[in-house]
Amino acid sequence: MGNQWQIARKQLDSVSAILSLPENVHQLLRNFDRILTVSVPIQMDDGAVKVFTGFRVQHNSARGPYKGGVRYHPELTLDDLKALAMEMTWKCSLVGVPFGGAKGGIICNPKELSKSELERLTRRYTYAIMPIIGIEKDIPAPDVNTNEQIMAWMMDTYSMNSGFCTPGIVTGKPINIGGSLGRTDATGLGIAFTIMNSVKHFKIDRKELKVVIQGYGNVGSAVGKFLSEMGCKIVAVSSSKGGIFNPKGMNHGALTRHYKDNGSFEHFPNAENITNEALLELPCDVLIPAALGNQITNENAGRIKAKIIVEGANGPTTPEADQILTERKIPVVPDILANAGGVIVSYFEWIQDVQCYFWCEKEVNSKLSNILDRAYEEALHLSREKKLSLRTAAIMLAVKKVADAILVRGLYP
Ligand code: GLU
Repeated sequence: MGNQWQIARKQLDSVSAILSLPENVHQLLRNFDRILTVSVPIQMDDGAVKVFTGFRVQHNSARGPYKGGVRYHPELTLDDLKALAMEMTWKCSLVGVPFGGAKGGIICNPKELSKSELERLTRRYTYAIMPIIGIEKDIPAPDVNTNEQIMAWMMDTYSMNSGFCTPGIVTGKPINIGGSLGRTDATGLGIAFTIMNSVKHFKIDRKELKVVIQGYGNVGSAVGKFLSEMGCKIVAVSSSKGGIFNPKGMNHGALTRHYKDNGSFEHFPNAENITNEALLELPCDVLIPAALGNQITNENAGRIKAKIIVEGANGPTTPEADQILTERKIPVVPDILANAGGVIVSYFEWIQDVQCYFWCEKEVNSKLSNILDRAYEEALHLSREKKLSLRTAAIMLAVKKVADAILVRGLYP
């Protein structure tokens, strides 16, 4: 994800200029409230001690406690986390969730760790970042390669060290320890709602919508499930090992079963094997990059054949690619709008934990859809009024709300 951080800063710079933000507010937003680097030593199953490096980056809390996921990845860098933490500030602000932005993670390859090593790693990392997290301070959540089991270990470690049970310390937990109904699939459902909003707006026929999903993991497969239920055709999917394509469409249930049994999509019946690169260039109505960042670049943007792109992952399109896609009139629905469903239902989970009062799934999903519809309308309205891309409009709305919060709070002391 190399230069993601520079891109995030440049986006902020240009939006601050359009908004004529006071220079002190602009500078504050270009920087971070806090960056913590921790070493995470654990005993491996063979008895050796290995030291991992972990981080928690807190960007801004003008609008509320810090919020953001924890990712485990061998190529994770502090710069990636800075970009992602800043993006969380904008995401929460755009959809009106009263949180600021944060992100954390550990440089590791979870696929090479046993379950007990992963547990020790998670617990030691939680212990190391404990001084700066808290129910009203900073609330972690799942992200790339982390899940509800990891959230359960984080919640348990924090609770044991606090001396009492603290479900609200993380979101994305299992239901039986204070998780919210609908949280696991919330990012995917939110993307599906956003796709429906965008096809309506871009006047693309909803019937038999052909969709291509890069990355059929936590987020991508949930999108696939909901889109199939809505009558769309999944024509291509992939994992990090490669993808498959069948222009006639593929069954979501069969896809997940095949991946579970084989650890890849290869040899899926009646489908052609393709690379992740080729998948992005397939003809389709909606392309959903739902894997990692920097997938659509100046190198391949000229060959994209989708009618619209809806960003499931964080930062999948580079600014150069954005430019090319704008010239080619291929609209891009930005990540902070499209994939905000996860953090919105995280917010619902946190409210339910704090109140010890839990909602039914219907209530969760209808509140999610209301928030996303409103955010889409607001971004669309501004983009039309000022003739801006949806991305610039969305970031502008978000930055404005954070800047207003900073200004009205004033500078301490
Ligand atoms: N990791 C998710 C995101 O990037 C969710 C964060 C959260 O729920 O706090 O939006």
